[in-house]
Amino acid sequence: MAARTGDQRALARLVSLVEDSSPDLRRVMKVIAPLSGHAHVLGLTGSPGVGKSTVTAALVRRYRDEGLHVGVLAVDPSSPFSGGALLGDRIRMQDHATDEHVFIRSMASRGHLGGLSWATPQALRILDAAGFDVVLIETVGVGQAEVEIASLADTTLVVVAPGLGDSVQAAKAGILEIADIFVVNKSDRPGAHDVVRDIRNMLALANYASSDWKPPIISTTAPTNDGVSDLTAAIDKHRTWLASEGQLTKRRQARARDEISAIALTELRHRMGGLPGESRLDELAARVEAGLLDPYTAADELISG
Ligand code: GDP
Repeated sequence: MAARTGDQRALARLVSLVEDSSPDLRRVMKVIAPLSGHAHVLGLTGSPGVGKSTVTAALVRRYRDEGLHVGVLAVDPSSPFSGGALLGDRIRMQDHATDEHVFIRSMASRGHLGGLSWATPQALRILDAAGFDVVLIETVGVGQAEVEIASLADTTLVVVAPGLGDSVQAAKAGILEIADIFVVNKSDRPGAHDVVRDIRNMLALANYASSDWKPPIISTTAPTNDGVSDLTAAIDKHRTWLASEGQLTKRRQARARDEISAIALTELRHRMGGLPGESRLDELAARVEAGLLDPYTAADELISG
């Protein structure tokens, strides 16, 4: 597999198979299945403007300095996936455009039935199999998408910044459950200390058992790399904790469960869809309407294919 040797174009083609929901994907997934599990998957989420792209670029720089190979998947659930000025393009513009050990891609689902919950884990699988050491998945913190990103990631970073009222909103959105590390970016701006204090107070109210991971709060000024080495140290620490507590396997099994469900549900939606009068569902509906079949048996038939 050329993608494994760092061939960017081969890799881009494989990710396009996901976006196009190509029938070849099944074969590719079979081939790469034994190659999975190497990459440490980082999820980054937060409201627009907090500095996710800037933090991502700073992390990529840092990991590249350590000689690691880094993949970035930028998932923008609010965009129609048409490849406009997406997150990934902004990261790409900052550096790395010519670095063959950095692969950056904005995820586009092109209206696929399963949407990003179907596409993102599969793209992640491809980057993992291609041998990247770290894969960053970045998404705008809106609703369901960030929960999905958290379920994909080994380590989830929730990025907040002063001046956006994020720390309070974060508490409301149940972000405490998904954050492994809080990143207070724009720590050069007034109000950064207040944000740290708000998060600290929020964490103090949570009931952590002694064996639980307690999310650290890391202050960064991403454009100048301030705090970025503290951030990678916290990420390393979380990774060690995941491995020692057996959490990594647990998280990855949960990820596989979501992935299987998404594929199965998408398959089912396909069967139910199709042109009116042509789908399996329409055929069953006609039989139920005519009293030839009961709806439970029809549902069983639909599921069993
Ligand atoms: P995103 O929408 O969350 O991806 O945010 P961006 O990374 O695009 O950053 C939004 C704006 O904030 C940009 O103009 C960045 O240059 C700026 N920015 C990012 N990080 C910092 C920081 O630590 N301090 C300051 N002062 N500005 C920052």
